[in-house]
Amino acid sequence: MKNLISFSNDLLLSETQQAALNEKAATLVLLEHLAEIDRRRLYAVRGYSSLWEYVHKALQYSESQAYDRVSAMRLMVRVPEVKEELQSGKLTLTTTAKLGAHVRRENLRPEAAIALLREVSGKPSREVERVLVAQSTAPRKIEQVKAITPERTRITIEVDREFLELVQKVKDLKGNPALAHQDVFKAAMQEFVKRRERTCAPEVKTTPSKPLVVAEQSQQTTMGSRYIPAGLRSFVRMRSNDRCEYVDPATRRRCESKSGLQFEHCKPFAKGGGHSPENLRHYCKAHNTLAAIEQYGRAKMQPYLRL
Ligand SMILES: [Zn+2]
Repeated sequence: MKNLISFSNDLLLSETQQAALNEKAATLVLLEHLAEIDRRRLYAVRGYSSLWEYVHKALQYSESQAYDRVSAMRLMVRVPEVKEELQSGKLTLTTTAKLGAHVRRENLRPEAAIALLREVSGKPSREVERVLVAQSTAPRKIEQVKAITPERTRITIEVDREFLELVQKVKDLKGNPALAHQDVFKAAMQEFVKRRERTCAPEVKTTPSKPLVVAEQSQQTTMGSRYIPAGLRSFVRMRSNDRCEYVDPATRRRCESKSGLQFEHCKPFAKGGGHSPENLRHYCKAHNTLAAIEQYGRAKMQPYLRL
């Protein structure tokens, strides 16, 4: 550590300038590393269910700092011109993250994203925000999540009329017009999770399960149903304690994800793997994807992976 007290004013100012440049360069290096980790899905290998979780927990950034870094990195991958803007200081990490979120939300094509990048380059954060809000076609969303106590969190959201009508419907169906909002949401979400987990169907078209399902369905006539018996599902669910069962072979870290869990065969059903506790695992989406890549190869899985 340098003894700054002995520095002249000129030296202190020039050293500070250099430190700021170093910090910008270091941010860029970090984003490049994150991009490669994301491409290799190394966060999943290390037992994290998302890149954001890896940045937050393994690299120990706060939740919002992790969000900014992941958002900025994704924009940098999509629009490589972001690199020089970051390097020159015309874009900060925060404004890049905001721009990245806007580009994703609006689903802008690369050329539109580059035009927007040029427009906000060099502008202060508040000005960038004004430009993005003015160009936003999506309805304004204000959401706040604030921890009140270790056990309680306050969530503030804006809702539309349809949402309120659904709330009322849940209250009617539960037969309790005075039901608290927390209980309404909890009941609706529990119902959703129960249904999803019962079906074990892929969530969206782009989930990596699709080729597994497609491949496995073609085997149904010769190898029996791919439907996993309810008792076996319950057994695996109890074994996993409704938590992703992936364990990083290097660090022994077990994934902490409890959402979007799916049953998967260690040896694919399509390749003769049967329904047995030993051949079934309960994985989150990230680890289901990782397993599919290991089984079928990156090239075959690429069309199903999120860009
Ligand atoms: Zn997982």
